[in-house]
Amino acid sequence: STATKTVIVTGGAGFIGSAVVRELIRRGDTRVINLDKLTYAGNVESLSDVEGNPNYHFVQADICDREHLGRLFAEFQPDVVMHLAAESHVDRSIDGPAAFIETNIIGTYQLLEAARGYWSNLKKVAPAKAEGFRFHHISTDEVYGDLEGPDELFTETTAYAPSSPYSASKASSDHLVRAWGRTYGLPVVITNCSNNYGPYHFPEKLIPLMILNALAGKALPVYGDGKQVRDWLYVEDHARALIKVALEGANGETYNIGGHNEKQNIEVVQTLCSLLEELAPAKPAGVEHYTDLITYVQDRPGHDLRYAIDASKIERELGWTPEETFESGLRKTVQWYLENRSWWQRVQDGSYQGERMGTAVAP
Ligand code: NAD
Repeated sequence: STATKTVIVTGGAGFIGSAVVRELIRRGDTRVINLDKLTYAGNVESLSDVEGNPNYHFVQADICDREHLGRLFAEFQPDVVMHLAAESHVDRSIDGPAAFIETNIIGTYQLLEAARGYWSNLKKVAPAKAEGFRFHHISTDEVYGDLEGPDELFTETTAYAPSSPYSASKASSDHLVRAWGRTYGLPVVITNCSNNYGPYHFPEKLIPLMILNALAGKALPVYGDGKQVRDWLYVEDHARALIKVALEGANGETYNIGGHNEKQNIEVVQTLCSLLEELAPAKPAGVEHYTDLITYVQDRPGHDLRYAIDASKIERELGWTPEETFESGLRKTVQWYLENRSWWQRVQDGSYQGERMGTAVAP
């Protein structure tokens, strides 16, 4: 193996984490330890491309379990931790915030403490390796709350004002990570990113939900008036940015990551419909145009109006820019869902979870 560094990726069976793992393995210069609890959002079938690669290791573990974390740090001796494990769905955080407090806040605290214990020891036994150690915390632009005017952008110095239990829990974890850097000197770096989309996205999220509902001839539910603005980034562009920050970013810094693709939710749904008209012209019975399926539903409580990221710092300091436009990325995404029906059908019918537990799946 030509791997020169060991990277622990938490949440590597999730949407973004699996893209990071695939990209690290493709690069070939790192040994990757994927540490994931496999909640409903974790899907090892998203990692079939890297399964069996000698640089790839999977460990089922809960980031709230400090003892287990301590043993894993000692065993794998990581150079870098990329922390993506989280509860990530805003609607679920409104229905049941407890898991968000547990994993996003307590779990991040336990991971920080495990990393600090390991790093403190490293400073004594392997100072050069300790010098290069890094804890990279992956977060969201939702910590900034929402924007009022049409021209405002979130920068790295925008004040935190989270609106949902999800974003409040992520904001808390960001503060903990920054404090562990300031107080204990732990080498930390934080990134805050806008909405991601792309292959292997769990079907409950906006873009896959719309694609799969449209293919099934079901309603396309749009919250409120559909005018909420999100800034979209193709997941593989995000993964490349994260790896750049993890390996080349400056300690103690925050980097915002975004794609300069501000779109109203309704525009996103309309673009998806027109891509589907082109790529999946054989429509379900009774559907003349995919856009006929658009249905406005009552808005989510506390729904942020507009997010938009100023990503000039990472562009300027680390030379990262996205490779996909919204058009090209969305086209790739629709194509991926059309070509990978078994991946999402196994999520929809629950068999992705049954098999990894080694149990039969109830119908
Ligand atoms: P996801 O929900 O798809 O994946 C989360 C992963 O974490 C799953 O594999 C799950 O099994 C694992 N996990 C959950 N709780 C765990 C625990 N206690 N211990 C170990 N593993 C656990 O999430 P995602 O969309 O890939 O997001 C990854 C990270 O990026 C999150 O921290 C999220 O806040 C952040 N983020 C996401 C977006 C987005 O648009 N999806 C944007 C910006 C930032």
